Amino acid sequence: MTTEKRAIQHIAIVGGGTAGWMTAAALSHHFKQSSVSISLVESSQLGTVGVGEATIPTLRRFYAKLGLTDLDVVAAADATCKLGIEFQDWRGKGSSFIHPFGLFGDKQQDIGFQHFWSKGQELGENADISQYSLGVSLAKNNKFTPPNPKPKSRLEIFDWALHFDAVKFAALMKKVATQNGVTHIDGKISEVTLCADGSIDSLKFEDNITSVNADLYIDCSGFHGLLIDKALNTPYIDWTQWLLCDRAVSVQTHVDESPITRTIAKAKQAGWQWRIPLQTRQGNGYVYSSQFIDKADATESLLNDVKGSPLHDPRHFSFTPGRREVAWNKNCVAVGLSAGFIEPLESTSIALIETAIDHLVQTFRQPAYSAADVQRFNEVTRDEYERVRDFIILHYKLNGRDDSELWCYCRDMPVPDTLQAKMDEYQREGKLTRYPWEIFGEDSWIAVYHGLEFYPKGYDKRLARVDEAMFVDQLKAMRTWIANVTEQVPPHEAFLRYAKQAQAAK
Ligand SMILES: Cc1cc2nc3c(=O)[nH]c(=O)nc-3n(C[C@H](O)[C@H](O)[C@H](O)COP(=O)(O)OP(=O)(O)OC[C@H]3O[C@@H](n4cnc5c(N)ncnc54)[C@H](O)[C@@H]3O)c2cc1C
Repeated sequence: MTTEKRAIQHIAIVGGGTAGWMTAAALSHHFKQSSVSISLVESSQLGTVGVGEATIPTLRRFYAKLGLTDLDVVAAADATCKLGIEFQDWRGKGSSFIHPFGLFGDKQQDIGFQHFWSKGQELGENADISQYSLGVSLAKNNKFTPPNPKPKSRLEIFDWALHFDAVKFAALMKKVATQNGVTHIDGKISEVTLCADGSIDSLKFEDNITSVNADLYIDCSGFHGLLIDKALNTPYIDWTQWLLCDRAVSVQTHVDESPITRTIAKAKQAGWQWRIPLQTRQGNGYVYSSQFIDKADATESLLNDVKGSPLHDPRHFSFTPGRREVAWNKNCVAVGLSAGFIEPLESTSIALIETAIDHLVQTFRQPAYSAADVQRFNEVTRDEYERVRDFIILHYKLNGRDDSELWCYCRDMPVPDTLQAKMDEYQREGKLTRYPWEIFGEDSWIAVYHGLEFYPKGYDKRLARVDEAMFVDQLKAMRTWIANVTEQVPPHEAFLRYAKQAQAAK
């Protein structure tokens, strides 16, 4: 493996969706003091995918590095605060649980709280584990306050993300990028020419006049996969044997109600339906398997199940869950949907854009890269996608529905070994293993395991001989503390009002 570096002077980003403009904003910020120039090419004629409105907390770290505050983004992208996702009907009709961006319970030594919960069950403390999560409690009650930056105990710890207007967020990223000197070209690429070694030589446009040459091409062309797929023929690894949903239909609705602090993911006969609350509207979509429902029925099912009046005709999407075998091939790096798409259940697509950008920034401490850098990028990207894949599959595997073949198939299907090993360890002894490059931490796994009634059979032996009365009192005290704090926290609306006023006063 050669460590010889190849210098880059000019980077061309293809695509002006969320991935393209996020990449342009971050790389132009990174290369601000250097002579590296960046162009972004997009086709307003083709437009963008226009969905992708629920995020996870890593997004806030991403834009903070660009000098943007939460209030800037809330105002610019009509955003609301997201404390987690509520999964409705996954364990059966009428069931519900929340996966919060926060921790469960307090703990002592290095014993995970799941062990305390199991011990509590043995002692007759039947409270659901969700009652030990401030994040769940705030989300359920539609309360919001930014977390205490200096928490005194684990009980206080929760995090938050945003629901935002994807088009407005991309516009904000565009503003940052163009202020940093990114050249914006609006035109449709009609041909990608290759060098003798098979790498990309240039991008040619429909007008037959414009052409762009670069040292590095970043493919943010979404499902078009214009460079990584169509020009370089990079294979795609298909994960439909585990993730059967391969279509979606979406519609935005006008709703006159105060936005909630969680995304709703409701299981349905042939997939699941999202509800994403923004300040001015709601995003809705049915993600379904084309093996189990057709387009017309899926559309009808979505429209029958939304709040408020539709703002446009339903939009349809078709995708293959999976990832590009290598995200970086020759002088082209795929970021965003061109690199892969798992499915939007845990809002991970934008997070995978962030991590890809982060790895690029780490690679380009100097404006150059080697074959070893490419290999490392590909290995890390593979691991990140596979870890997200496993987490998503877990939701399907543990479902408790029996109203369609889809759900029965998912419950019975063999899952990847990496996931099966995790599930076995958790069930046997309540052990949580975090693999390298895993986006979701231990408490996220606890949320889904317990939400879907997959419990450990044993607990840490160190809890075998505790003072039982004191132990039970401690559990009760945690629940009471959470209920009391939740009472004191203001409603989400109050935060949004404050955000508006603060922005107006700027
Ligand atoms: C149904 C659905 C729901 C989703 N929900 C979520 C969610 O809740 N959370 C989340 O994190 N992610 C979600 N995602 C994923 C998210 O939408 C994407 O990761 C994100 O929008 C990034 O898309 P992109 O920029 O890669 O592609 P796009 O937005 O499709 O952008 C592609 C760009 O390439 C340009 N382009 C293409 N071909 C050419 C050409 N020939 N010449 C010039 N320009 C060209 C287009 O003009 C466009 O600007 C969802 C995806 C789907 C399908």
